[in-house]
Amino acid sequence: MNIVVAGAAGFLGSHLCDALLSEGHFVIGVDNFLTGQRKNIDRIQQQWSSKEFQFVEADVCNPINFLQEIDFPEGKTTIDQVYYLASPASPIDYIKMPMETLYVGSFGCKNYLELAQQFNARFLLTSTSEVYGDPTIHPQPESYWGNVNPIGPRSVYDESKRYAESLTVAFHRYLGVEVRIARIFNTFGPRMRHDDGRVIPTFIKQALFKEPLTIFGDGSQTRSFCFFSDLVSGLITLMNNEQSIGPFNLGNPHELSMLELASEINTVLENPAGIVHKPLPLNDPTRRRPDLTKTEGTLGWSPKVSFADGIRETIEYFKQELL
Ligand code: NAD
Repeated sequence: MNIVVAGAAGFLGSHLCDALLSEGHFVIGVDNFLTGQRKNIDRIQQQWSSKEFQFVEADVCNPINFLQEIDFPEGKTTIDQVYYLASPASPIDYIKMPMETLYVGSFGCKNYLELAQQFNARFLLTSTSEVYGDPTIHPQPESYWGNVNPIGPRSVYDESKRYAESLTVAFHRYLGVEVRIARIFNTFGPRMRHDDGRVIPTFIKQALFKEPLTIFGDGSQTRSFCFFSDLVSGLITLMNNEQSIGPFNLGNPHELSMLELASEINTVLENPAGIVHKPLPLNDPTRRRPDLTKTEGTLGWSPKVSFADGIRETIEYFKQELL
């Protein structure tokens, strides 16, 4: 197939490109490096030829005018699937770039839905567990409508994704475009940025430099962490399923408090510096765990990699990157 990946230079986008290329597809990666890394694209281009992978540096919010520059296999301009991952994804990124975050969920998402419409392609939106806000139901099933503050500091991300879901469903319902929606829960692994502010890279970096790990609030808040390889296989399974457009939760139900996570990382990295507490940011969700009943039942997908294995591989990656 000919597949477009918007957000190809990012953590998940670059791993997704690897997986799709390994399956033999022709992949067009699009990114403007807002939060992604050029080295992720360089690595793909070193491994794959331009017959297999082509990269376009572009802002997804601008009209798509690069198709004539793409050298399609057998000269046929067709697109079969569009994965839409473009968006700042970590709180420090989206709070620093509020307008960009709202625009990728609106203008950008519209452009790539129209691209799918133009080619009769299937479109997959990477939404987020943040659509559940600070949830009053635990664990969160897809049927839960969420508890989001529409004008809080996190709303630029949460509401952007909620709007993108609405737009995606409208393109399906009223314009007949084939769509799929993934609600991704916290995912980690190699190629995250060490300075993206997400808790796992932050803790690993602090522990590697023997600094105390920063815990916001009392550390009882929980998150459930999925390893990137499971998540990528979940995205591909969801895209290719013929049963349902979703939304489907994708994540790992293994739930950890921030205190437990800090203690695990300090133990593995033999960091004697312990932890330090800082005030909890506004509207920080207290609990997060995916209810995977619908995903497992319909897609037959569930995560395989244990947290212990995933964190070991991630620590090794950051050791190479930082030390
Ligand atoms: P990331 O920041 O590493 O990747 C996002 C990519 O999108 C970056 O390469 C960035 O440069 C690109 N991008 C942003 N705005 C763009 C624009 N206007 N034009 C072109 N490219 C643009 O984040 P990630 O963790 O890989 O997340 C990928 C997707 O999955 C995001 O949509 C995110 O919201 C979603 N998601 C991720 C997680 C997670 O835990 N990693 C959880 C929930 C949802």
